[in-house]
Amino acid sequence: MQNGYSGKFLQVDLTAGVCSDFTIEEERLKKFIGGSSLAASLYLERFDLQADPLSPENPLMLINGPMVGSGFPGSSRFAMAAKSPQTGIWGESSCGGNFGPELKRAGFDGVIITGKSPQPVILSITNNEASLLPATDLWGKDTYETTDILKAPDKSIKVLAIGPAGENRVMFSAIANDKGHYIGRTGLGAVMGAKNLKAITARGNQAPGKADEVKYKETFKTAVAEIKDSAFAESLHLMGSDAAMDLGTMTGDVPFKNWSAGEDAEISSKLSGPSLSEHYLVKAHACSNCPVACKRVTAVKDGPYQSDEGPGPEYETCGTFGTLIMNSDLAAVPSAQVRPLPYPWNSMKKGSSAPKRRTA
Ligand code: SF4
Repeated sequence: MQNGYSGKFLQVDLTAGVCSDFTIEEERLKKFIGGSSLAASLYLERFDLQADPLSPENPLMLINGPMVGSGFPGSSRFAMAAKSPQTGIWGESSCGGNFGPELKRAGFDGVIITGKSPQPVILSITNNEASLLPATDLWGKDTYETTDILKAPDKSIKVLAIGPAGENRVMFSAIANDKGHYIGRTGLGAVMGAKNLKAITARGNQAPGKADEVKYKETFKTAVAEIKDSAFAESLHLMGSDAAMDLGTMTGDVPFKNWSAGEDAEISSKLSGPSLSEHYLVKAHACSNCPVACKRVTAVKDGPYQSDEGPGPEYETCGTFGTLIMNSDLAAVPSAQVRPLPYPWNSMKKGSSAPKRRTA
């Protein structure tokens, strides 16, 4: 492998049950680099823009960039994309977690999935090989149980899975990566469900190559030092993305009462990052190789909104389940997020629907 790329992509035709490799010309990789921009360029060139988002013709794409898998801070993020069933136009969602780096270690820069399997299947990718395995016994299970079953033979296997929401094509259903990270935007869980694709697993042990190892190491050291010195990174580590609640309130960028009211500092301070850390934070959590560790693991130990330990809310969830509906009880927010996670759906979309119901 050279210059961060594995050198090959995986094409999966679920209708025919065939997996094959393909390459992308270097010029295009340099122009679009990777992620959603490369996905969009491939979509425009190869697929039918008029396709129904839930039809076999709509491709589900998972694309890495050259830095994914390098170990560089913040480089774990990969993109998934398809025509969105939620909007009927281009849909993309970025995810951190650990799946992108593992896919790179398994030898692939990305995966394009077309067609529809006649039966539920898992796409299993291990060290340059891909195969489709029956998943009828997993259909109907939530993502927590599915992930545990698929990781049982080897904890190092990384999993992307849908739950009942994706299977039933809920328009804002998400795809879960190892029970803690989500491809939440634009309803891509429904696209996966419409293809009868229950899960994708990846496992590999190939280190991606670098164009200039010496320069990479220098840049890596500089980046880590700058992150350690950064007040912004420190605030993300201590308070998660909900650190944005107070600042957003000051700048008028927090939705109060479905955007119909002015800022309310009393409510926002109760929902803000410091409050979340003080009352409900169990520990900080990180995507692969990220020294910032902005992710939250939270639990509500008592009271009416008691909830188990699980992925904590981001700023957006504190907004949609908090300020948007003028709820100042922060305990309700982790609870509202954690309970549906096994299914799972996009908590921003779910929270945003609450004020609509209220004002209907
Ligand atoms: S832990 Fe936070 S800052 Fe680090 S890659 Fe993940 S989302 Fe980004």
